[in-house]
Amino acid sequence: MSNCAIVGINWGDEGKGRMVDLLTEDFDVVVRFQGGGNAGHTVINELGKFALHLLPSGIFRKGVVNILGNGVAVDPQSLWSEMQDVMDKGVSLTPENFKISERASLLLPWHRDLDELEEARLKDKKYGSTKQGIAPFYSDKYQKKTILAGELFYPEELKAHLADLMEWKNLTLTKVYGAKAYTMQDLEEWIEKTCATIKPYVTDTGAFLKKAQSEGKKILFEAQLGSLRDLDYGIYPYTTSSNTTAAYAPIGSGLPSAKIEDVIGVVKAYSTCVGEGPFVCEMFGDEAEQLRKEGFEYGAKTGRPRRVGPVDIVATRYGVEVQAATAIALTKLDVLSYMDKIPVCTNYTLNGETIDYFPFPSALKYAKPVIKYFDGWKCDISSARKWEDLPKEAQEYVSFIEKEIGCPIKYVSVGPERDSIIIR
Ligand code: GDP
Repeated sequence: MSNCAIVGINWGDEGKGRMVDLLTEDFDVVVRFQGGGNAGHTVINELGKFALHLLPSGIFRKGVVNILGNGVAVDPQSLWSEMQDVMDKGVSLTPENFKISERASLLLPWHRDLDELEEARLKDKKYGSTKQGIAPFYSDKYQKKTILAGELFYPEELKAHLADLMEWKNLTLTKVYGAKAYTMQDLEEWIEKTCATIKPYVTDTGAFLKKAQSEGKKILFEAQLGSLRDLDYGIYPYTTSSNTTAAYAPIGSGLPSAKIEDVIGVVKAYSTCVGEGPFVCEMFGDEAEQLRKEGFEYGAKTGRPRRVGPVDIVATRYGVEVQAATAIALTKLDVLSYMDKIPVCTNYTLNGETIDYFPFPSALKYAKPVIKYFDGWKCDISSARKWEDLPKEAQEYVSFIEKEIGCPIKYVSVGPERDSIIIR
């Protein structure tokens, strides 16, 4: 593998962080190419347990350079507190092993306010935002109304730019939402206290990546969330505000000339979904509660209980296609070990027909799952390290998913630890 993207196939939380942490052994550079601190990657390794939000999951490997690309929403405040957390646990973060693109836009203090204010205005029609300011940030980025990290090196121009943005944004804050206006003093403090902490890491990462590419270095592109949250291909408007697909990796990373040879799509052995929006295969009641408990399905960022369901073949097949995945990592198979019969959503019914394609977002609320049951294996599989170590029922379950989604399942994860993996 030379250029490889690790992406989510479903609604996010598939275990991408765990796969990046495992696979970084073979890579020189890890780049995050989209999204912000609004989701969490949980990584467990010999240094401890980490919930990463913005930092690339390669930061635990010595010799790996980690980059936040230009497509990422860089929130200086939350990034710095995350950096401090991992440094406190003994992880070294220096401008040599961690770099922020000078072309990454900065999430400004009012983006978080606007996210909260808008969700409060929407009341029961809310989108289920994590209120990290991501949607207001990306709207402003595309309106060209935010600032680039590299502007921190031009203090005079930066102040003038921020003054213009503040004048414009205060109109929305005060006149639309009746909220408090920002002052230049607030913003100067933000530059001096907050932005100053991350400034030493800001650099021309595009040039760094180009050089790395010309030297034949191996680059891993790390995504956040999953296909069904992609702004263009997901369950709009219950998507995120950026492209979570591998096709966006060259643009958002700062290496537009990159050809991504391998796309590893991460799929959980069952489904989970955080927040609002259609979730056709959703389970309810005791059955759902038990799966949530067994899989510890509570959001890494918000602690919110995740909605759960059986693996959804229709959504997963669509996700594989959108990502152009070349291989699949199936995670959390061990979680299903308690089940007598394992449900799988094989199709949907829509308007009286059985369908195998993923419908247009507005039609999803009328779709109903078709469930088929597989025999459970009812034993602990967490120490399996080879395909042959898995019970026949588990092999059948994995092989069925593989056949239905049309993509080889190369990795089967049977525990959160780095080595709890079967490589086929
Ligand atoms: P990400 O955002 O895609 O990285 O996913 P999250 O970190 O939000 O969720 C994945 C969770 O599952 C984390 O708590 C991982 O430690 C855990 N996990 C990953 N793979 C496995 C696995 O194979 N088995 C079990 N039991 N837990 C896993």
